[in-house]
Amino acid sequence: MLKDFIYDDFQNTVSEVLVCNKSVLDILSQIQEANARLNRVVIRTVTGCGCLKIQAGKKEIPSDLSLADLKNFLDSHLLGEMCAECRDAVETALGRLLFYLAALCNLLDLNLCDILLKEQKQLKILGIYNLA
Ligand SMILES: [Zn+2]
Repeated sequence: MLKDFIYDDFQNTVSEVLVCNKSVLDILSQIQEANARLNRVVIRTVTGCGCLKIQAGKKEIPSDLSLADLKNFLDSHLLGEMCAECRDAVETALGRLLFYLAALCNLLDLNLCDILLKEQKQLKILGIYNLA
């Protein structure tokens, strides 16, 4: 499958270009840093640019609401759409996080695509009972 190839190719490319930070300690700390950066750029869409707004409050969930209906009842608390600049910043931050996740997979001799397929299989089995 083409997507399998893309993930494997990405993981191989990460392996080829990762020279300096090969320590598992460095990779784990880089994942945390990349995640913090991702959080920061998402927050900046609201507090810096303003293209997104957050509208949140306590949700009053009706007691007779089914689990299936809960999915449609709850929302993201986001209003608006990311502008092109914020979208690019978020995509870049997500890419950096994926880079270090692939690097960790390489160190642990794990295949990123296999992990994705395993997770997808679990999601399909559990459906809405996944509770994510
Ligand atoms: Zn923006």
